[in-house]
Amino acid sequence: MQPARRLDHTLGNAYLAGMTTVHCVRCDLDRDQMAFQPFQNDLGKRAYEEICGVCWGEWLKTQQQLINHYGLNLRDPKAKDFLFRNMSQFLFKEGEVDA
Ligand SMILES: [Zn+2]
Repeated sequence: MQPARRLDHTLGNAYLAGMTTVHCVRCDLDRDQMAFQPFQNDLGKRAYEEICGVCWGEWLKTQQQLINHYGLNLRDPKAKDFLFRNMSQFLFKEGEVDA
């Protein structure tokens, strides 16, 4: 007997909005998804769909260290490329990293 299934489904979605969990490919846990897709490209989409908020936070810290360490200028396409490569390596353990 499922008289209110459709209504439940709708309410469930509304309730879950903003607290979606994702099975994170990095830490292999079900955790809260990051708040929004960080970049409008394939890597950003993939990170949003496959990486949890905790791991994303760790990457942001690492990214800041890289920016400080190398004195990166984020308006420089090469610096962005460098960070995207490192991000891919950090989150998905793939892609080549060279300094
Ligand atoms: Zn994670």
